[in-house]
Amino acid sequence: MLTGHCLCGQITYQADAEPALVANCHCTDCRRQTASAFSTVVGVPAPSFTVTGGELAEFITTGTDHGQPTQRKFCGSCGTPIVSVSSAMPDLVFIKAGSLDDPTVVEPQLEVWTESALQQWAIGEGSGKPAFARGPG
Ligand SMILES: [Zn+2]
Ligand SMILES: [Zn+2]
Repeated sequence: MLTGHCLCGQITYQADAEPALVANCHCTDCRRQTASAFSTVVGVPAPSFTVTGGELAEFITTGTDHGQPTQRKFCGSCGTPIVSVSSAMPDLVFIKAGSLDDPTVVEPQLEVWTESALQQWAIGEGSGKPAFARGPG
């Protein structure tokens, strides 16, 4: 069982299934929506996903590759992205992993849209850049 919530707490959700896949998505739409380097997503079977508190707002983008609509659902109060549903893969709901109550239970297995990835933003031990365990913000 996966559970999660938005930043303000109005939206809560659960997914009663094992993740089908966990990926870091580097597409430009996910980058812009999350305003971050990339988006870690957890694909779960659509019927297993339930919003348990609040009501999701949504908008639609068009997938660059497949040209089909992608529903991007978020908390209308605080703006936290919660899930994406791509009409190219309608059987899965892609949870934004950073909204999980315990994100440590999932681990990305693959990178997608690496042709759009910001390689120069790579972080972690191997980047060779000065690293700080904590920092401002
Ligand atoms: Zn919220
Ligand atoms: Zn993406």
